[in-house]
Amino acid sequence: MKTVSLEQELNPWEAQAARFDFAAQKLNLDEGLWKILRYPQREIIVHIPVAMDNGTLEVFTGFRVQHSIARGPAKGGVRYSPDVTLDEVRALASWMTWKCAVVNIPFGGAKGGIIVDPKKLSLSELEKMTRRYTAELIEFLGPEKDVPAPDMGTNEQTMAWMMDTYSMHMRQTVTAVVTGKPINIGGSRGRREATGRGVMINCDEALRKFEMSRESTRVIIQGFGNVGSNAAKLMADGGYKIVGIAEYDGGLFNKNGINIDNLLEHRDRNKTIVGFPGADAADPRELLLADCEILIPAATENVITSQNAAGIKARIICEGANGPTTAAADEILADKKVFIIPDILANAGGVTASYFEWVQDRQGYFWKESAVNEQLEFILREAFEDVVHFSDTHGVNNRIAAYMLAISRVAHTIKLRGIYA
Ligand code: NAD
Repeated sequence: MKTVSLEQELNPWEAQAARFDFAAQKLNLDEGLWKILRYPQREIIVHIPVAMDNGTLEVFTGFRVQHSIARGPAKGGVRYSPDVTLDEVRALASWMTWKCAVVNIPFGGAKGGIIVDPKKLSLSELEKMTRRYTAELIEFLGPEKDVPAPDMGTNEQTMAWMMDTYSMHMRQTVTAVVTGKPINIGGSRGRREATGRGVMINCDEALRKFEMSRESTRVIIQGFGNVGSNAAKLMADGGYKIVGIAEYDGGLFNKNGINIDNLLEHRDRNKTIVGFPGADAADPRELLLADCEILIPAATENVITSQNAAGIKARIICEGANGPTTAAADEILADKKVFIIPDILANAGGVTASYFEWVQDRQGYFWKESAVNEQLEFILREAFEDVVHFSDTHGVNNRIAAYMLAISRVAHTIKLRGIYA
């Protein structure tokens, strides 16, 4: 891959495009299909007026990018963050297309975002902003068109407001328009833990490949939010030794394993992991470089870069977050023979359970949690095998293999459907 500046390295769109180009070239992808798939199909920018509690009027900028609808309705989360950019949303939308194709579920890819710090808005301001954002996008959304879900800064409540707003416009309740809803309004059992569970299933598959045991596997996790804390809890319960947790405001290390149940209690009580008595305090950035078998970045983008990749000691990296490793870091890690389970496979448990939620809403019949978990495991194990098989047969790393597998599936669909003129 070509040399790029640090700024380019950290631009998620550039990161996505670099991997796409490399995989497409390896696949000998037809030039026309290359042009279609490299860029999103549709990008919508909306300006959202909100009457604030103090009587002033604020206008927020929001995005919805639909990268592809070739394999089914566009699918992807909505992110509320002061730093979100159109380039980031574009990259995340493309990743959703590849992620849904890797796990072979019938969705395309989309992503949305609003430039806002949700912590600075009251509940009523958040509700007004969410409803107006949904209304601005109304003709583009729908169970057969585009199905949003939560992402950073949004949650089950946000999805309940989106579902209600869409339903009011349609004059009927349409639960399948979003996923990640509360269970009593059409959410799925097992959805909340699904991304963390998927991370564990992928780690289990890697252990099987390397003939390692859970008990002798030390794990360090960055991010103790939805993905990180659920992965930590399930993996600790399953016998893995979670030796380190890194958060924004501090890190924890205990070489004998951190008691995750106690840490969850501490976090819920104190709103931070800092000060937990069952582990030593550690620098969160240093934790990425500490001794362990598995490193799970489950916080945010660009945390493993050309600046720190050489110092990583983990044998396996399982990417719970989207885009945690830059393309330049990939090359360094490949030289070190680190086995990377790429984001579009590692964190696909969430969208797979979202698919189950959408199916259940459309069926009007809700599954037991054991059925959700069993189907999730089946789909993810198959996807892991497909990616590793592609990597072995094409002599490429797992990330490029996952892109190649996904691109070939989407390209095949487009070829079969043809181009409507
Ligand atoms: P979250 O907001 O619940 O948790 C993220 C956690 O990471 C927070 O506790 C935050 O304090 C911490 N964090 C943020 N930046 C950090 C940093 N630089 N260093 C250390 N800690 C940091 O979000 P989430 O839903 O768990 O999502 C995390 C990542 O996983 C994102 O990249 C998201 O796109 C991806 N993802 C989430 C899901 C899902 O189902 N929630 C599915 C697929 C991918």
